[in-house]
Amino acid sequence: MQIDRLKEMIEESENVVALTGSPLLEECGYPYVRYADAIYDIESKYGYSPDELFSLSMYKYRPELFFRYYREEVLHEKLAPSATFYALAEMERRGKVKMIVTRSIHGLCTIAGCRNVIELRGSVLRNTCPHCGREYPMEYILKSTKVPVCQDCFTTVRPGIVLAGEMLDNRLVTQAADAISQADMVLVLGTNLKSDLTEQLIKYYRRKKLVLIKKEEHYMDRYADYCINDYPKNILPLLV
Ligand SMILES: [Zn+2]
Repeated sequence: MQIDRLKEMIEESENVVALTGSPLLEECGYPYVRYADAIYDIESKYGYSPDELFSLSMYKYRPELFFRYYREEVLHEKLAPSATFYALAEMERRGKVKMIVTRSIHGLCTIAGCRNVIELRGSVLRNTCPHCGREYPMEYILKSTKVPVCQDCFTTVRPGIVLAGEMLDNRLVTQAADAISQADMVLVLGTNLKSDLTEQLIKYYRRKKLVLIKKEEHYMDRYADYCINDYPKNILPLLV
């Protein structure tokens, strides 16, 4: 039985690192849209591509449009962590999972109670005034009807996210690579070995417990030591 084997592998491990892919958003109520369709729809609606809309120059020079797109297409008020994220938080409390690494910006790990999370692209939960440093919760952005400005100094509040064209924070990438190189088991959830997240980081893992849990089959699955093709929300809660 696959689950028993996986349970055993976790039982034998002391330093599990989990990588959570953006496709997990689908488990959490985020509408799944094919990338090509999304680009077409967004361009027709806003007159720019998603990358142009979610860029630093749009934030600086066309903030009304930047925040309209951000509120309407990026933030999702009803998004809630799936059972996968709560299971990860529980595995972390039990001392098995030592680190969770993600490129997702929706803060789902944090909302579910995970503590050691590296969010490579930042989080919608952290918004800061670039001038005075005052922090604002996501609700502040959601409730603003125009451009959200700092209540103290009236500067445009900046979402704590790596925007299109910006570099990832090198310290975070190094921290994630270190965690993976020291892990005795790596759990890849909701993504394959060809995603931006895994391509960047899996090369640092040198041991024999690379486990994938995700619905879609992929030709790179054979490079994992163990693979279950199912939604992580159906599997992970069975492991805690
Ligand atoms: Zn300020």
